[in-house]
Amino acid sequence: MQFEAEYSLKSDNSFGFDVKARFRARAESQEDIQEALVFASDRSLPLMVMGEGSNLVLAGDYPGLVLNIAIGGKKIVKEEGERVWLSVGAGENWHDLVLWCLDNGLYGIENLVLIPGTVGAAPIQNIGAYGVELESCFEQLQAVCRETGKVELFDSSACAFGYRDSIFKGALKDRYIISQVTLRLNRNPQLNTGYGEIESELSAMDVLADPHAVAEAVTRIRRRKLPDPNEIGNAGSFFKNPIIRQDEFEPLRQRFPDIVGYPDGDRVKVAAGWLVDQCGWKGTRQGDAGVHDRQALVLVNYGNATGEQVLELAKKIQNSVEQTFGIKLDLEPRVYP
Ligand code: FAD
Ligand code: NAP
Repeated sequence: MQFEAEYSLKSDNSFGFDVKARFRARAESQEDIQEALVFASDRSLPLMVMGEGSNLVLAGDYPGLVLNIAIGGKKIVKEEGERVWLSVGAGENWHDLVLWCLDNGLYGIENLVLIPGTVGAAPIQNIGAYGVELESCFEQLQAVCRETGKVELFDSSACAFGYRDSIFKGALKDRYIISQVTLRLNRNPQLNTGYGEIESELSAMDVLADPHAVAEAVTRIRRRKLPDPNEIGNAGSFFKNPIIRQDEFEPLRQRFPDIVGYPDGDRVKVAAGWLVDQCGWKGTRQGDAGVHDRQALVLVNYGNATGEQVLELAKKIQNSVEQTFGIKLDLEPRVYP
């Protein structure tokens, strides 16, 4: 395993921020992860785990070891009737996995097509889109404990999944490195077309609705609305949709009849993009840091913005949303160092 010093992370983060890691290594196995833990601990270095860097803000050089998880492999580990359990290395690309599953007649994750990043990062925020979350097809994961170096198993309840959330962002933050994820898929498709524009996109495509068509519909909608990080640096949604109580939402709806909110149990999930847009931020720019002109939730790097500049812009947006609506927006991407 190689530990490269003063490694540029510019092409390793989807914002394209031009920062360096003091050391960087790629783990292709659980043993590599264990070796990296020893390397960092022997030198008293902080360690940052990275997949494809699509949900990060690198606000400066990283003073320790950046460990890229590059464990590959896919294996069907169990089949029972129509149900199939697929074990996947944490370093596999999520979008490629969705396409591979479709090609192999394994269904359940087609709505999650085109989400950037690795399979190992997917449980961290319980990735979700177009009415489906990872949790719905998650069986278990293997993770290396950063303190002991031992491999442990987590089932769905141990992961404590929530809305763009899991135990790995809370009580177990920075305590485990995910090496393997097992998904529970189905050979019998159960289509999920109730969300947003999927139905109308399927009608426009004029094809029989099947999992391939759903994936294609979601792909078309996403390509229309979202900036491609290969063209304009971004980390997807910069703010989480706030989930508030009914008695907080009702007065807002009286004052702002167009406010966008969806029931979430006995609470209401408010569309953060609508709040940001109402405050006039959509399409604005401060130097090379900006708010995308088609999606107010996505902050972008037009070229040479730094992580700090994007965070300054985010702070201004948070303040104006709080002043106007009394709602505090939380950041979705993780900020380092
Ligand atoms: P990174 O950004 O590298 O890491 C994210 C966090 O996870 C870091 O804290 C890191 O330490 C930790 N981590 C990564 N891998 C591991 C591991 N193996 N073990 C332990 N910790 C780990 N997200 C959605 O949920 N839905 C969407 O629809 C969506 N759309 C997006 C669209 C765009 C254009 C972009 C740029 C991002 C989007 N995202 C979306 C966010 C992002 O794609 C996901 O959060 C993704 O899971 C991040 O994967 P990654 O490998 O790039 O993780
Ligand atoms: P959108 O369809 O314009 O909808 C705006 C917001 O309203 C979304 O955030 C969504 O919440 C919510 N919403 C819309 N229809 C809903 C329904 N039928 N039931 C419940 N909630 C509904 O959103 P968008 O920005 O274009 O994104 C489309 C999907 O891709 C969303 O699921 C979004 O989460 C996902 N996405 C995520 C990221 C990321 O980085 N996290 C980036 C791009 C897209 P939800 O977000 O809870 O679905």
